[in-house]
Amino acid sequence: MIVIGGGLGGLSSAVALAEAGFRVRLLEKRPHLGGRAASYVLPGGEHVDNCQHVTLGCCTNLEDFYRRVGAADEIRFFDRLLFAAPDGRRGAIESAGLPPPLHLAASFAMFPLLDWADKRSIAGALIAIARSAGRPADVSTSGGTNITMLAWLQKHRQTDRAIRRFWEVILVSALDEELARIDAQYGIDVFWKAFLSTRGGYRVGVPRVPLGELYEGCRRALARRGGEVRLRAGVRGFLVADGRADGVDREDGSVETADYYVAAVPQDALPELLPPEVVEGEPVFANLGNLKASPITGVHLWFNRTVMSEPFLSLLDSTTQWIFNKTRLYGANGGGEGGGQYLQLVISAAYGLASRSRQEIIALCLEELRGVLPATRDAVLVRGTVVKEMSATFSPAPGSDRWRPAQKSPISGLFLAGDWTATGWPSTMEGAVRSGYLAAEAILSDAGTPRKFLRPDLRPEGLSGLWAPRSKADGGGSF
Ligand SMILES: Cc1cc2nc3c(=O)[nH]c(=O)nc-3n(C[C@H](O)[C@H](O)[C@H](O)COP(=O)(O)OP(=O)(O)OC[C@H]3O[C@@H](n4cnc5c(N)ncnc54)[C@H](O)[C@@H]3O)c2cc1C
Repeated sequence: MIVIGGGLGGLSSAVALAEAGFRVRLLEKRPHLGGRAASYVLPGGEHVDNCQHVTLGCCTNLEDFYRRVGAADEIRFFDRLLFAAPDGRRGAIESAGLPPPLHLAASFAMFPLLDWADKRSIAGALIAIARSAGRPADVSTSGGTNITMLAWLQKHRQTDRAIRRFWEVILVSALDEELARIDAQYGIDVFWKAFLSTRGGYRVGVPRVPLGELYEGCRRALARRGGEVRLRAGVRGFLVADGRADGVDREDGSVETADYYVAAVPQDALPELLPPEVVEGEPVFANLGNLKASPITGVHLWFNRTVMSEPFLSLLDSTTQWIFNKTRLYGANGGGEGGGQYLQLVISAAYGLASRSRQEIIALCLEELRGVLPATRDAVLVRGTVVKEMSATFSPAPGSDRWRPAQKSPISGLFLAGDWTATGWPSTMEGAVRSGYLAAEAILSDAGTPRKFLRPDLRPEGLSGLWAPRSKADGGGSF
């Protein structure tokens, strides 16, 4: 078994297949594992994530994967979500005694950064989502395609501030896209799964260690079955003959063969690895170019003193969307030696920053921090870095699902994994792990030894449990 690509899609398929008894060789072209969710070492010896990654309580398969590789204890979950207005005022959302979908209602009612008209409009739309168990009938048009999230919110008469300070804040970071370009079903799924169907789905999980450390257990899992991870082991292409995958051509000139291959590379890299006539002849591959990418910008700032006490904050009406207090989240290993503090800022759907210089972006973020973290006004910025990921995720645009292929490819022996394959989930770590488990299931089924790895969604609770049809409550893959 050969898996190409050491991101979460490749790692999860490799670990599942090793557990099923296969000897797996994983080939990754970079010097580290993790793909887009990776960390690396700076020249000064400091470990930094390529960008802060968070999970949510509803991400059942990512949680299962971390447990399988012994990393689950390295994720710390937070029940209290803190929001800050540009003038520094804070508001919190957290669960209280009422059953779902009302568990967040008390903190929402008290939330000081929205007024009653905003809250009334939001409550109406949330009730429409909850009563339909996340499947409101007015999402799709008569032509069969879905409307955008913005169009759905306008249909439900949301105030401008409700859109800006509530829907946009949650969805732009969850889906890495602007509301006017998000398929409404993707946006509604986020609210149903994370905020309405269960008490714990909204909890934010943040790693206590650099991302790379979460994958240490993968090597051991493969080695237990005689397999291995090879880094700096790029693949130049697949050898395909008579509709069957026959081997991989490595960048070092060697050829490796196996019974099965999993291509767990990004969607824009896959067609480059296949013979042109295969790409042209198979719509599954030819259509991948229809999936568009959206960007995320991460800003790393090191201050000479403590400027923030909270573990993380979500910003309203600002270019900066999240601030993570890495020093606090990492504890003793926080990179804030000598009383300094390391913060990481995240800006999703960062189209507007694409042409801005590193200095401009840092200056813009510092200006915003002065309002929400007044201590930054007197602090010295010791160091700052900007990481622009122009192809961070695929854009969940209306109709994008039709370009996402199943894990079993039209080439015999070749299976696909990656957040862009058909999982029903958006481009996330959870989506990538789902794809890896689905690829492993497809291979085991092909080999005549079927086995399930995919974990079901959390079962809806409280009133949401009464509204959700049983089949949906137990449903696994799709939203
Ligand atoms: C800046 C940023 C922030 C994000 N934040 C979050 C977040 O907070 N929460 C969340 O859930 N998701 C987040 N995501 C999305 C998440 O990182 C991805 O959805 C997920 O990691 C994708 O995993 P993957 O395995 O599908 O692909 P990738 O991680 O891209 O893995 C593909 C791997 O294939 C390797 N490869 C490519 N070509 C070859 C070749 N020829 N030979 C060998 N190897 C090859 C690559 O080097 C890479 O390691 C974020 C993404 C980015 C970029």
